Amino acid sequence: MPKRGKIIGKKVEEIEAALSNLGLPPQYASKLAVWIYRKRIQHYAGINDIPRHIVNALQNEFGDIFEGNSFERYPGTDGSVKYLFSNAQGQHYESIYMDNGKRKTLCVSTQAGCRMGCKFCMTGSISYNGNLDAGSIVGQLLAIPETKSVNRLVIMGMGEPFDNWAEVSRALEILTSAWGVAFGKSNITLSTLGILEGLERFLLNPRCNLAISLHSPFPDERAMLMPSEVKNPISRVVDILLKHRIPKPLRLSFEYVALGGINLSEQHAKAISDMLKGLKYHINIIPWNEHPAADFKCPATDELENFTRWLNQHGVMWTIRQSKGNEVGAACGQMAGKHTPK
Ligand code: SAH
Ligand code: SF4
Repeated sequence: MPKRGKIIGKKVEEIEAALSNLGLPPQYASKLAVWIYRKRIQHYAGINDIPRHIVNALQNEFGDIFEGNSFERYPGTDGSVKYLFSNAQGQHYESIYMDNGKRKTLCVSTQAGCRMGCKFCMTGSISYNGNLDAGSIVGQLLAIPETKSVNRLVIMGMGEPFDNWAEVSRALEILTSAWGVAFGKSNITLSTLGILEGLERFLLNPRCNLAISLHSPFPDERAMLMPSEVKNPISRVVDILLKHRIPKPLRLSFEYVALGGINLSEQHAKAISDMLKGLKYHINIIPWNEHPAADFKCPATDELENFTRWLNQHGVMWTIRQSKGNEVGAACGQMAGKHTPK
């Protein structure tokens, strides 16, 4: 058994320190980080430019590269693949790989479940089993067979990233650093409902695009859909976004779950435009994905068309995002940390 947790999730300077503590030359740390994060080897046996005794000492100290992590793979017929992971802490969490031609996106989780309790979301209705550590977050990308073809990452799976900021920011550092995965910052998007403290910390040094889950411009209605509105009002979120602008080429967007008969009126479109005045943004509309834990309605086509027409009239840029993975129970808001075939 490893003595000090797994190697995945460690920063290069921590691998250096570990080597020094073991009385070994720290300069091998960056080579090792390249093997693990850039070349994405699955086992130490593939390493051919680090002396064997050093690799063995690290393996003895930290265990295998994906120590304790395993996954099951569920391919869908729409090119998406759902992954169900477990880690050494006994947590279960999901990722979904989506192949859209040139865009190959992986959606990763940050928590096993979620404490935010949004009424329309399946993840919010299952039991919560804690924060994922950075190794388990980054491991979702590194462990899957498609790892090398993934060119977009969305942090939009199970969990609220700003409720686990310490591990999510560590994961982002590993993902975007030259010594780490070296993923382009503008090819990663983090989605949050906007926990104020986390948002302020994120904006001090943004390492990726930001998507804010809006869902209603009206505080009472938003609070009904998303209990976190009470402590983290969307008006304050917008103030923070106006004060600390996200630097180019990074982008700001808002997500809007389209709930039939609820949040698609002309008043909603106008209030969205008024509320977000002064920001440069785009809205992604996600028609509600049904699941057994809630009884909202997916909007009718004409309801959605009217809403987007009103958004146009009020100068709001939008896209409708159809979720992939529905068939394997892995579309937005359907993630429950288990396989639920339809
Ligand atoms: N916790 C973060 C990120 C994970 S949820 C957040 O809430 O932003 C990713 C996106 O899926 C969010 O915009 C969320 O509101 C949306 N979502 C949740 N349940 C959904 C559902 N049933 N149908 C469509 N989108 C949903
Ligand atoms: Fe959590 Fe996001 Fe689902 Fe809300 S929508 S319960 S924040 S995962």
